[in-house]
Amino acid sequence: MKIRADRDVCIGAGNCVLAAENVFDQDDDAIVVVLQETPEGADAEAARNAVGSCPSGALSIEGT
Ligand code: SF4
Repeated sequence: MKIRADRDVCIGAGNCVLAAENVFDQDDDAIVVVLQETPEGADAEAARNAVGSCPSGALSIEGT
């Protein structure tokens, strides 16, 4: 899997960081920063939850 984040779409809600703090962070403007593009194991599972919890649709997963 590969995580994609569209920083132009992100509204800085922070759900992704709450769901997967090892995979996502937010910059000084609260916009998402991807810390791990290809998470594995528990981080991958958390990342999937994060993608599902993003209210703006800024996050997506490529591959499986
Ligand atoms: S959950 Fe979505 S809108 Fe919120 S900070 Fe993360 S990417 Fe941005």
